[in-house]
Amino acid sequence: MHDVHSRWQAILESISLSAGKAGRNAGEIELMAVSKTHPYEAISELFACGQLLFGENRVQEAEQKFPVDRPRGMDLHLIGHLQSNKAKKAVSLFDAIDSVDSLKLAQKLESLLDKPLPILLEYKTAVNDSAKSGFETPDELFSALEQISSFRHLTVKGLMTIGPLGAGEKETRNAFALLCKTAQMARLRFPHLDFSTLSMGMSQDYGWAIEEGSTRIRIGSALFGAREYV
Ligand SMILES: *Cc1c(COP(=O)(O)O)cnc(C)c1O
Repeated sequence: MHDVHSRWQAILESISLSAGKAGRNAGEIELMAVSKTHPYEAISELFACGQLLFGENRVQEAEQKFPVDRPRGMDLHLIGHLQSNKAKKAVSLFDAIDSVDSLKLAQKLESLLDKPLPILLEYKTAVNDSAKSGFETPDELFSALEQISSFRHLTVKGLMTIGPLGAGEKETRNAFALLCKTAQMARLRFPHLDFSTLSMGMSQDYGWAIEEGSTRIRIGSALFGAREYV
């Protein structure tokens, strides 16, 4: 248990270091604790330290794990692929969906909502990574945004990506730089929408992500320890 606290502090320090290296203010970078596969005890331990933002990648796991009435201030986001048949559950369970990966899903979510829901659009930045979901080209992303921008409840907050897993520095940084550039293009094209959040960087690559402009890193194993499954 003590481990979680010291790892958390080490990551906060390392965020400061990477930010300093990039000439950025550490306050611009939010830490999301990715708690998938870990028990609620570890989550509440970290919450007691002051960590408010948590990410889960499966609807069912989050539903079973978190209490119906979460502690005040705890912010729970979905970061994994969402199937249509779980969309209804997801909008009642999560405070935000950071992994909207198709127009179809956005339409489905909008049709279920009667209150605002913050979202990030997931963009594929890694080449040759066919397993991952997400918008694949700027055209595809922008034509979805044309429609999403007219929705009353879905509130765009930015973009999210998963870097190329196990790749070296150059390839990884290129992927993150591409998300940054895509957000810049989106800001010009949709000046009335908010693209301030860039969710990129995980345990293995968050230093590079911060140097490339990440505003939200998603950390699982470096905080909670290794997982048995992904
Ligand atoms: C699991 C997961 C993470 C965290 O991964 P770690 O390498 O354990 O830090 C981040 N983002 C997404 C979408 C994930 O599924």
